[in-house]
Amino acid sequence: MREITPGSIVSSTQYGYLKVPKKVRTQCPGCRKQGEFSLKANFYQIKTGVFSEGICSVCKKPSTFILMIKEDSSKQTKEVTIHVYDPTATNGPLDKIQDNKRISQDLVRSYRSALNVNQSNDHSATAVMTKRVLESLVKNLNTDKAKSQTLSEQFEQLPKNVDLSSPIQTLSQLTRPDTPFFQMLELEKEVDDKTAELLIELLEGLIDYLYVVPEKIETIKQKIEKKY
Ligand SMILES: [Zn+2]
Repeated sequence: MREITPGSIVSSTQYGYLKVPKKVRTQCPGCRKQGEFSLKANFYQIKTGVFSEGICSVCKKPSTFILMIKEDSSKQTKEVTIHVYDPTATNGPLDKIQDNKRISQDLVRSYRSALNVNQSNDHSATAVMTKRVLESLVKNLNTDKAKSQTLSEQFEQLPKNVDLSSPIQTLSQLTRPDTPFFQMLELEKEVDDKTAELLIELLEGLIDYLYVVPEKIETIKQKIEKKY
């Protein structure tokens, strides 16, 4: 389920005090192109949520949308939020971090805002929110002393305050000859479905950490330097 941000709502119909999205622009779950969807639903039936179908303007295939009423009890207002059913949709890292107790809610919030403003094609707001996320990241991981420093200085401090080698240390412990993990690799211990999945997950994480992430950051740096 992927939320459609207010910026992607092309038109709405007013039902009393409720503004209900009528036409939205979003990535089609079928053809993956940016399509426009006109929604058909009997909006008088909306209580907590209602399903609606919309036909993609590009591939003409139907997708399912869900309209929900969100109540803001502090402001005593109601608004309609709209989501598209997209089986392949994930919020990327957001899905992984939002329940993580070590990560501050401030960071989760600013990252979510960055995703939202980007989806609404607001480039300046995306830049502003990116800065907020970067600041939030280093602020959370650095010591108090570092907090008055510039963003660049704070990143420089980061490896002193965060043990970036700890995943590798953990692997070193994990692969000692006397561990169940090593015995599995040597087929001295049986490996079930769940454990086999964990092994592959471990490989993916490790390859990401050692190769994919460093290369990605370097490539992004080069692309930005080339452009400006
Ligand atoms: Zn489509």
